[in-house]
Amino acid sequence: MSTFDLLILPGDGIGTEIMVEVDRIIKWFNDQGTVTFNTQQSLVGGAAFDAHGEAISDETMDMAQKADAVIFGAVGGPKWDDVPYEARPEAGLLRLRKDLGLFANLRPAICYPALAQSSSLKHELVEGLDILIVRELTGGVYFGEPKEITDLGNGQQRAVDTQIYETYEIDRIARVAFDLARKRGNLVHSAEKRNVMKTGVLWNQVVTKIHEDDFKDVSLEHILADNCAMQLVRNPKQFDVIVTDNLFGDILSDAAAMLTGSLGMLPSASIGAKDDQGRTKAMYEPVHGSAPDIAGQGKANPIAMIASFAMALRYSFSKAQEADMIETAIANVLDQGLRTGDIMQEGKRLVSTTDMGTAIIAELNKQTA
Ligand code: NAD
Repeated sequence: MSTFDLLILPGDGIGTEIMVEVDRIIKWFNDQGTVTFNTQQSLVGGAAFDAHGEAISDETMDMAQKADAVIFGAVGGPKWDDVPYEARPEAGLLRLRKDLGLFANLRPAICYPALAQSSSLKHELVEGLDILIVRELTGGVYFGEPKEITDLGNGQQRAVDTQIYETYEIDRIARVAFDLARKRGNLVHSAEKRNVMKTGVLWNQVVTKIHEDDFKDVSLEHILADNCAMQLVRNPKQFDVIVTDNLFGDILSDAAAMLTGSLGMLPSASIGAKDDQGRTKAMYEPVHGSAPDIAGQGKANPIAMIASFAMALRYSFSKAQEADMIETAIANVLDQGLRTGDIMQEGKRLVSTTDMGTAIIAELNKQTA
């Protein structure tokens, strides 16, 4: 039987509430006896600041380095608006991404049939949608130097951000995208702006070469990032995997996300390089934040968090069947008309965070009966 070590970091606000539902699902799998998860739990974000004066402690970072995967809730909230910049809750998340070397961000946009009506697009355009956006997470214009605002002395200022990509950064993210495409629809769109940006020219060349050398069996299309944005709202089902840089990925993944309805439905994964033992560092988290407006009221939708755990099963532990079970359970509870407030529709049944978790576990039970 396989055994995996998980570090659970619930964080702040609704992070703690939705993680309770993942804990119940982990316990459910442990009780089944086919896979075992050993879990450790620690503090991150505002909760860690309150306890130690920093957004994540070295001890927790050490636990994260040793774990097979980190399961992360959400951080932040008005309580910590005035803490020093280096200790703000988000600093914990950024340190995890940086120190674990998580360079690839995976954001699926899946439209469950029961929610197709709540998309802002016509339901026939989004029903059954299943896109995976692979965004480069540690390079590009968010990190390139110089990054500064200079006083020009004449009442004007000049702001500079620098977009930099080196071959190895493009190479490794492209490989992640091609590998994932092989497990899905076998199609990769590589999005850049080679018409106006040198980084786009290099991006295009490197992706083309890797494709020719190692991934000839996967279909590759190059697309300008602005056209990609347009196509995402015109005909999103033409896409399978989209690989793109940090900036374009930030924007395109948010656009793709909203095709599917609510923030409370969106999981994500961030993964790093393979180490000497073939282990890949990875962190799984919902796309949404700590939702202070509904925290502590039992209103949070736990589906993004639970679906993030399903991604861990699929991508870190090669447990595709177990991941499918969770995703089927989610689709079934939605088909039954159960809804948290964020996805509520007329004629459906409004349920709490706990009720949603209980219903998903009941559906898991049905699948093993
Ligand atoms: P948010 O994602 O927390 O909330 C935006 C809106 O969506 C709110 O109305 C909220 O109630 C709703 N919402 C979000 N998740 C939901 C869920 N699971 N179920 C039901 N409704 C849900 O974004 P925000 O309000 O801009 O930020 C709140 C705090 O979260 C801030 O401190 C911000 O910095 C932080 N934040 C953290 C992360 C993270 O931890 N990865 C990401 C984004 C924002």
